[in-house]
Amino acid sequence: MSADTLEDRVRQLERLLEVSRNLSATLDLELLLLLVIDVATELTTSQASSILLYDKKSRKLQFVASQGSHRESLKQIHVPLEKSVAGRVFKHGRPLIIQEAAGDPRIFRGVDQAVGFETRSLLAVPLIFREETIGVLEAVNKLNDQMYNDEDMKVLEILATQAAIAIQNARFMEDSRRAYQELADLDRMKTDFIAIASHELRTPLGLILGHSTFMREMVDDELKPQLDVIVRSATRLKDIIEDVSKIDTFESGASRVRKGQINVKRMVRDVLAAYESTAEEKGIALTSNLPSGELVVEGEVDKIKTVLNNLVKNSLTFTDEGGHVMITAEDAGEWVSISVIDNGIGIPEDERERIFDRFYQVESHMTRKHGGMGLGLSVAKMMVELHGGSIDVQSVVGEGSKFTVNLPKEIKIPDEEPDLFR
Ligand code: ADP
Repeated sequence: MSADTLEDRVRQLERLLEVSRNLSATLDLELLLLLVIDVATELTTSQASSILLYDKKSRKLQFVASQGSHRESLKQIHVPLEKSVAGRVFKHGRPLIIQEAAGDPRIFRGVDQAVGFETRSLLAVPLIFREETIGVLEAVNKLNDQMYNDEDMKVLEILATQAAIAIQNARFMEDSRRAYQELADLDRMKTDFIAIASHELRTPLGLILGHSTFMREMVDDELKPQLDVIVRSATRLKDIIEDVSKIDTFESGASRVRKGQINVKRMVRDVLAAYESTAEEKGIALTSNLPSGELVVEGEVDKIKTVLNNLVKNSLTFTDEGGHVMITAEDAGEWVSISVIDNGIGIPEDERERIFDRFYQVESHMTRKHGGMGLGLSVAKMMVELHGGSIDVQSVVGEGSKFTVNLPKEIKIPDEEPDLFR
């Protein structure tokens, strides 16, 4: 169709617009390319159109969309870059019109021979995306003994731009789908590895701990310190394995809060009792400041106890002899606020966010000598967030730190994660 009248022109624009609309609306590349060649055939009044894409492996052009009964046979044909119109257009990135195909040496005869077609005239334009030519759009056999003209070329170029965008979009989608799949596979391998490794380590560690604790009771006093070392080291290994598998369960989305009533004051007293001897050995005063009334929050006591244990363990680690560590708890309306306060080495301001990251430790000779995996605070943060709460820190280097955990008295079940709590 040449756009002689105003109606023709409007019709032409409508068809081009239809391709544009589909370009942003459909994810089905094959359908979209079929629409492109249909419109190309109609607007250039041709017998047929096709799209060829460059295949890096064979270094030839391959038909990806074509019309009529030859469609399947065309897909098998590889058009060489040399001695073909499509190849020439692809290599030079410029359109080409052949008005008289018969006898023209630039035409690749393989296609006509393979599908029993006769190419009489041809218009080909490159598919260009961000300055890279990726293929060719061709229209063949202008109808009614007409010649291909500049207007046909312009129409085909517009369609070629649209097809190139659609093809690249589909390629990007495929690339990101593949990358996502690879990540998911890696993540599954990591989760499997952690699950298997921690399971395999737990059993022998349990045996080491059990037997060494038993032997400690049986041996003479002078051997007890040796067994203490074994028990302490095995306990540390066990804690590390527990932390790693807690993080993994949380990240895989398998963490759940078993809702119950937590008696905050009792929990704080349990934590104090658990660290009494460590504090005494280090010469640190471990105290609490609790309100007189009852203090209850909803949640899973073991998870919140892990939070307090990790905070108190850190405070005792990073506070020198003669210092003090205190746990406070208070009613804050709909929330309960629990703090662990120490007068230890403190945390520099620029490190305060990152200490909650996995495996992060403040780099300094002061902290390095304490060991640890840098997991305690990230585990604490996860547990608190599972409960819908928050954790933050205030600190002055050389004066001490205050970690505060805010927990809602009632856990609200988020709509988008209905199975997070049970
Ligand atoms: P780790 O188990 O190695 O202690 P954490 O995640 O519990 O790891 O803590 C991360 C880092 O934050 C610690 O290595 C330490 O540098 C710093 N930190 C945590 N708690 C305190 C504290 N109470 N006082 C000073 N530094 C702290």
